[in-house]
Amino acid sequence: METKYGFTKFSLNEFKEWLNTLKVGRTILKIQQHHTYSPSYIHFKGNNHFELQKGMKSYHVVHNGWSDIGQHFTIFPDGTILTCRNIEKSPACIYGQNANSICIENLGNFDFGGDEMISEQKQTIIEVTKLLCVKFNLPVNKDRIVYHHWFDLVSGSRNDGIKNNKSCPGTNFFGGNKVADAENNFYPLLKELINDNDIKINDDSILKYVMVTSSTLNVRVDSNYKSDKVKDRNPIKFGSVLRVYKEQNNWLKISNSSEHWVSERFTDEVKKATVTATALNVRSGGGTKYPVVGSFNKGQEIFVSQIIGDWCKVSSDNKWVSKKYLKFSNE
Ligand SMILES: [Zn+2]
Repeated sequence: METKYGFTKFSLNEFKEWLNTLKVGRTILKIQQHHTYSPSYIHFKGNNHFELQKGMKSYHVVHNGWSDIGQHFTIFPDGTILTCRNIEKSPACIYGQNANSICIENLGNFDFGGDEMISEQKQTIIEVTKLLCVKFNLPVNKDRIVYHHWFDLVSGSRNDGIKNNKSCPGTNFFGGNKVADAENNFYPLLKELINDNDIKINDDSILKYVMVTSSTLNVRVDSNYKSDKVKDRNPIKFGSVLRVYKEQNNWLKISNSSEHWVSERFTDEVKKATVTATALNVRSGGGTKYPVVGSFNKGQEIFVSQIIGDWCKVSSDNKWVSKKYLKFSNE
């Protein structure tokens, strides 16, 4: 393990241990796969991980104007992993699809004719994705492990790579970048490593979900302001959706296994819902007179923060969808 420029480099085993102890407040519903395209294998010298990573961050911050590097993890050709953006922040990786996601950038150009992925990197991509699936209870399927290619570049709508898409994570990423390629080539490698009982899809211990309404929210060891902040745990950011396991004196317990509490005052309850329409229009306001700004696909899970008449506001963004095409989790 080595830290430089604010990034930490892990071997696969070190990453495993780190992930085991990592506490994440944000509810994670998806893992995104990307390739960096550039830098690619010709730029990697075997010892310049941190310099390449610093270059990517500078491009994202200076060129793109983002607050930080876009991704949460970069996986290098030698199978090492570098941490990037704070995991409590949504990534900046797929327009319109970043909420509740973790973003992995795999270093290389995996389009046909580009880099031939070496086995160390392959193994780490499989293992890291598997570890994240187990950690966040994500079953292996096309709604949970997604490729950048499946989303329209401008609207962020899912179209499974029909038009207006990036080739990312590469036309030759584990044999292809289409949904069928993922299902035939990539997912089976993950499923081999995951037992059915490793993943708890319906967690009955969750009382409700809330969204953070302050810019940051501290996590404390007990249900009052006098108690200490939890060590080694980042404050949670605005707009993050938290799972609530217990309520007490207007405080919320957000971990099932640990005494980790946040003040209810800085949260609003949100309702989990699943999209039932094939393609559900997302609008900038609650009514058909508002312009369409994107779409959600069937089966996608979202969090509704406000309901006005037949319209539902999605999380903290000014995005609205018709209530008719949502199935709420308690229905
Ligand atoms: Zn991408």
